[in-house]
Amino acid sequence: MASELDPQSRQSASRETADGPARETACETSRETPRKSQTQPHEGEAHTAGHGSRLNWLRAGVLGANDGIVSVAGLVMGVAGATTAVGPIFVSGIAGLVSGALSMAVGEYVSVSTQRDSERALLEKERWELAEMPEEELDELTELYVERGLEPDLARQVAVQLTEKDPLKAHADAELGIDPDELTSPVQAALSSFLAFAVGALIPLLAILLPGPDWRVPVCLGAVGLALLLTGFVSARIGQAPTTRAVIRNVVGGALAMLITYGVGTLIGGHVA
Ligand SMILES: [Zn+2]
Repeated sequence: MASELDPQSRQSASRETADGPARETACETSRETPRKSQTQPHEGEAHTAGHGSRLNWLRAGVLGANDGIVSVAGLVMGVAGATTAVGPIFVSGIAGLVSGALSMAVGEYVSVSTQRDSERALLEKERWELAEMPEEELDELTELYVERGLEPDLARQVAVQLTEKDPLKAHADAELGIDPDELTSPVQAALSSFLAFAVGALIPLLAILLPGPDWRVPVCLGAVGLALLLTGFVSARIGQAPTTRAVIRNVVGGALAMLITYGVGTLIGGHVA
């Protein structure tokens, strides 16, 4: 009980969990703090939610860029294994950049749309329940806060106050972990995936096109290695994971992808020529 309400232990718990639960827990902490002015919990809530979703965007951006780096690096290295002509390397690199970015964008659009549809359906059901059976819903909310460690009396008080303020928001947060005012936009998610992939893809594309024929492969390997070191480091930091292992995995994985496609390109190029 005491530890549940202790802000410091709540915070350290939040740091260990992924964004979603951490966000929720942080909101909860500020909401559970009794007898403060109405505006204070509201500010804290908005702040923590914004911080959590910013981290989510950063993580999605880094992962998208990582995909762009590895996939286009493999592509241009494969073509460079088959031919020394700049034209085919350029065309395949651009085609890989555009098709990969589009594929990411479409995938993200579909998945976020589906998620939003299901969140809306859940909110609709919750809205109906609140209208039809407010007493049961109040009991339910109380029970949820008891499960999270509040004494029944305090949980009741919290549930009553939250229900007075904004019942749908209170239930969406405690039951579903959704903020009804902050549903993700599918178009925004699609655009950022497109951009993230494209930015990542530009690295191997430029690294293989700018140097002369003798330097293409080593420069591309080096640039991609450095870029993957950076994305591996940043995504490990965001996820609170040990950075060294994450960086090694990321760089080795990307290097393998490039060496394999380069080998395949050399083999096939030899047969086609
Ligand atoms: Zn409910």
